[in-house]
Amino acid sequence: MLLADGETVARYHAHVLRRGPDECWWWTGGLTDTAHGTFRAVSLPGRTRRGTVPAHLFGYRLANGPDSLPPGLVVRHTCDEPPCQNPAHWLAGTRGDNNRDAASRRRLAGHALADVRGAVGRARAVQAAIAAARPEDLDAAIAAALAAGNPSGAHQDALF
Ligand SMILES: [Zn+2]
Repeated sequence: MLLADGETVARYHAHVLRRGPDECWWWTGGLTDTAHGTFRAVSLPGRTRRGTVPAHLFGYRLANGPDSLPPGLVVRHTCDEPPCQNPAHWLAGTRGDNNRDAASRRRLAGHALADVRGAVGRARAVQAAIAAARPEDLDAAIAAALAAGNPSGAHQDALF
C-alpha cells in the first residue's frame, strides 16, 4: 500500500509548502495543464512506468484514508486553487458540483478563477515566488504573485 510507504509519504510532504490552517498549502512539484500537482507515487526500479497521480488525490487519501473517496466523486478545492494541498480546503463532490461552483465564482473580481494568466500561469507564478522569496518574505511574495493576475481588481468582471 503506497500510502503506508513512509518514503513516498515523506516525498509527498517535501513538495507541500505548509502554512497556516486556513491558508493554501502550495504544491512545489510538477503541475498538470490544469494546474493540479503531479506526484510520482510509484517507483519501480527498472521500469519505465512513471506512476504519477494527481497530488491532491494522493493527499486526500493520505488525510482521510485510502477508501475515503467513493467511486464517481472528485476532490474539489473550496479555495479554487488547483495546486493547493491543505486538507481543510478539500471536499469530495461530483463533477457537476465542481462545474456549477466554478461557473458561479469565476466572475468574482480578484478571484482565483478570474486570473488573467489562467490556472497554470497563476500556479507557476506562485511557485516562482516561493522559490525566490526569503523565508521572512514568503507570505508577502505569495500575496503579490496572486494579486498580479488580477491587475484591474474590482473592474475585472468587465472582461467577461
Ligand atoms: Zn487552498
